Formats: sequence, structure tokens, C-alpha cells
Amino acid sequence: MTSKPFASTADTAEQTSTLEELAPDVYAYTAQGDPNVGAVVGPDYVLAVDARATPTAALEWLGELRRVTDKPVEYLVLTHYHAVRVLGASAFGARHVVAHEHTRHWVNERGRQDWESEYRRFPRLFRDAESIPGLTYPDIAYADGLTLMLGSREVQIKWLGGGHTLGDSVVWLPRERVLFAGDLVEARAAPYMGDAAVAEWSAATLERLAALEPEVLVPGRGPACRGGDVEQAVAETREYLRTLWDTVRGARERGGSLRAAAEEARAALEPRFGDWWIFEHCLPFNVARAYDEAGGLPPQVWTAEKDAAVWEQLQS
Ligand SMILES: [Zn+2]
Repeated sequence: MTSKPFASTADTAEQTSTLEELAPDVYAYTAQGDPNVGAVVGPDYVLAVDARATPTAALEWLGELRRVTDKPVEYLVLTHYHAVRVLGASAFGARHVVAHEHTRHWVNERGRQDWESEYRRFPRLFRDAESIPGLTYPDIAYADGLTLMLGSREVQIKWLGGGHTLGDSVVWLPRERVLFAGDLVEARAAPYMGDAAVAEWSAATLERLAALEPEVLVPGRGPACRGGDVEQAVAETREYLRTLWDTVRGARERGGSLRAAAEEARAALEPRFGDWWIFEHCLPFNVARAYDEAGGLPPQVWTAEKDAAVWEQLQS
């Protein structure tokens, strides 16, 4: 059997991004399954959520944003450390880059390896990769939560527990009930679990997120959700996570190999989620992480070499 094309290297079709106003002066720029970004426009300045993979890709988003405001970006909030969300940061000229303390730590510890790994996994997102000046270092790191006032509008940046990474932030507007969920919730896209706290994410962390009772939710990937679609996106993300976790952990407990665990996971997931964005891309990394977690191991540092070895083992 021939190998499937590595990760998303065969995904070369540009996606169209759409600017949507979710509440007055609150925007999402969603990207048909590519990483979403957003912004809250205050009386004096803008708070932006996530940065895209390169300054060039970020400038496309800023060009759209400049159609609705010419205010400077004061805060750029990074929902987590992944390269496709942070390496475009320099384009914003933000006064402050805000992230959770664990994200600050992971940028220092494994940001460089993640950059290399993500670039190889999904080159299309790294448009004009030479425009990246280096890693993005937050200058404001928080532990449990941080509240910023944009005029009279309260913006809460919250850490809800271990999840997609160990340092995910959500951006919550309590008055408007709008939630930027980062990659903790996806809509019709596979959740990436390679850096995850799998058990915690699928249970306590998603419960805390749901308890906010958002009326509008911007997922990490996929369209912005409203009303019943919010619950559906959370429920489907949870279902994917639990299905993968239960099958992989079960296989490991019975002495099954990583490959056997991957086959069980695929059989359980594919009928339900096989047509979701980045399903094939994520599956081997998700299985590898769940298999490690079932054995009591912390999230590994993904390098280009580890990526290739896991892909070869599970997708060939
Ligand atoms: Zn991510």
C-alpha cells in the first residue's frame, strides 16, 4: 500500500476567508477550515485574537479589518503556541502580545520545533514563509484569567484547563456572550490532539467552556456558530475526543500496539468524522498522543523527524 501524502502537503487549494460581525464591533474572519482569527474593536484600539501563520497571511486579514476600523492593535491575544496561529504576529504592530503562562513556556521550550513541524505539515498556510521574522514571544502572560476593558466592554481571557495544548486561552465577552474558543472547539474540522491533555480536554475543560453558555462561538476551524450550532460544535468535538481516547486507551490497556490502536480509532471515527477538514492530517498525531497519555507520558516535542516516523508507521 502506498503512503498517503504527508499531513496536509497535498492540500494546496486556497480557501476564501469571510469577515463576519458577530456583535457590534466584534469580528470573526473565518477561513473554510483553515485557522480562524478575530478582533474586538474598542473606542481607542483593537484587541486581535490569533495571528495566522505568516505576516503576509496576517496582512490579508488586517486588510479586511482595516475596512471597518483604522484603530491600532493594542493587544494581540494568542489562544495557544501553534505556529499557524502565532508566527504572523509581527504584522499587527501590537503593543502587547498576551498568552497563557504555559503558552509562553512552550514558545520558549518547543516553538522552534513546532514551526518546522507545522511548516512541513501544512505548507499552504505558510504563504511567503520568509516574511516570518522569528518566534513570537508574549510580553503579558497570565495564570488563571485576565480581564481587559475596551472602554465599557469587558473582555475576559480565560484558561479553562488542559486541552488542545496545556495553555489554551479562550476570549470571552460576557455581555455579548461571544466566545473565541481557539482550537478547544472545532466545527466540522478534526480537533488536533498532538499536544493535548486528552482526558482533561474531553471532560472538565469542555464542561467549563460549555458552562459559559456562549450564544456565539468562533471555533478554531470551521464557520462561526450561533444558537444550537454552538452546542452541536462542542458536543461533536467532545464526541471525537472521547471516541479516540476510549479506543486508543482501550487498545493500549489490552497490550495493543500503536498501529493496532490507530486501526481501532480509525474504524470508530471514520464513519462519523471522516469527511471533516484535516481528518487524515490529524489522525496519526492524535493517536500517538492518546497512546502516550494512556501510558502516563506528557506531550512530546514534535520534530520533523518524529512527524515523519509517526506518519510512516500509521498512514502507510
Ligand atoms: Zn492549534
